[in-house]
Amino acid sequence: MRLVIKYGGTSISTTKDIQKIAKYLSSLSKNNQIVVVCSAMSGTTDDLIEISESIKRENKSKAEQLAAKIINRHKQLAKQTIKKSDIQKKLLQKLDQDFTELLALIDGMVLLGEVTPRSMDYLISFGERLSIKLISSSLNDYGKKSIPLTGKEVGIVTDSNFGESKPLMDTSRLRISKIVESLFEKKTVPVVGGFAGADQHGHVTTFGRGGSDYSATIIGSCIKADEIWLMSDVDGLMTADPKIVKNAKLLKEVSYIEAIEMALFGAKQIHPRTFEPLLSKKIPMKIRSSFNVKNEGTLVSATPSKAAKNTVKCVSNVRNNGLIDIRGGSMVGNPGTAAKIFETLAKSGINVMMISQNPSESSITIVVKNTDLDKATNSLEMELLGKIIKKLEVTTNVAIIALIGSGMRGTVGVASRVFTAIQKNKVNVSMITQGSSELNLAFVVKNSDTNTAVRALHDEFTLDKIN
Ligand code: ASP
Ligand code: MG
Repeated sequence: MRLVIKYGGTSISTTKDIQKIAKYLSSLSKNNQIVVVCSAMSGTTDDLIEISESIKRENKSKAEQLAAKIINRHKQLAKQTIKKSDIQKKLLQKLDQDFTELLALIDGMVLLGEVTPRSMDYLISFGERLSIKLISSSLNDYGKKSIPLTGKEVGIVTDSNFGESKPLMDTSRLRISKIVESLFEKKTVPVVGGFAGADQHGHVTTFGRGGSDYSATIIGSCIKADEIWLMSDVDGLMTADPKIVKNAKLLKEVSYIEAIEMALFGAKQIHPRTFEPLLSKKIPMKIRSSFNVKNEGTLVSATPSKAAKNTVKCVSNVRNNGLIDIRGGSMVGNPGTAAKIFETLAKSGINVMMISQNPSESSITIVVKNTDLDKATNSLEMELLGKIIKKLEVTTNVAIIALIGSGMRGTVGVASRVFTAIQKNKVNVSMITQGSSELNLAFVVKNSDTNTAVRALHDEFTLDKIN
């Protein structure tokens, strides 16, 4: 089989884990063509972002201190993980080149005293540049031919939208397939850095946080992979967060559209664009545990089997949001009101998670993250209060509870079962949305009611008996 296997940062952060994975991959690669995609080691991207913050605050010593932390961690891991001295020596030399470049970049940014979107992407791409060298050398250590490649080196070409770039798929396909095919011919395993690519001018770009998942599917689509595996510290997608529901079950099969919904709301965070490259080629994806490899995990495909078409598949929750109820008489029958509200929020870079408007048009309710609430309220007041808006009512610390499953479409009585179960548990619901796709029924409760609501619905739809 031709496989793209992506590892999250938490799976590749200790000597033991890296060795286990390298051993597994080298045996897997005997009968399969594999491309490995890696995130940065856990915490590295956060540290790099903190370096950028320190540069903005002109705190050079803090930036250098954080860089030293990253450098030491990788050096130490290289020494502990790689047994063969010639391989270890070569690895340390290659890492040293990256360290020199990282320190020079930080110096340059400090000198300029500014962090541009372009320099930011260049800076935060270093985590993957370092991790791939460790993993690839570990494969060498187990006797497997392998080379590390950054997203740019493997041929991922993107637009120049730094921080949130999109791939130019046709150009990328030509470059990636040529590079990867020639490595496959040489029985060499490419270990590719996720998260980043480069624009047409060769400037490093990133896909946004968690973007390594997206890198894996971009590459998988370009080389016509048979399957893509996302390996991390969870067994797969679950019927609910197992920390809340003791008898939560692993979902064996879900469709792409269900997985997209679950990725947005679920415990397993997946980059929202991840599934895009798979849709047209219908490449199946497995969400699996890095170490519990006997477990097949969750299969995500275009056409899950009949048995997997339950009405409701999972109940997920996102805590710590804020709800803003926007009211005003002049909003009624006034085209463009919603546009003005959302334009104002967009200008302030606020991501709106839920929207509802009642048919009388006298109020629009939105949900944003708690951390965005201040900015959202402020920009709405500054721009629109006294004009189209009369009043804002803000509630902090609310949770979104979402019921997901494509079988809900056209099934009568789901909503009534949901709200009866919720009401029986004396939980108050402050907002409800359901898209016309009927794939997702979501509502808002107080943070403190989250567990009760999730458990009530898990029970109501007997999700513990799902498979
Ligand atoms: N290293 C990047 C991040 O932490 C990308 C990823 O992990 O997928 O966001
Ligand atoms: Mg990640």
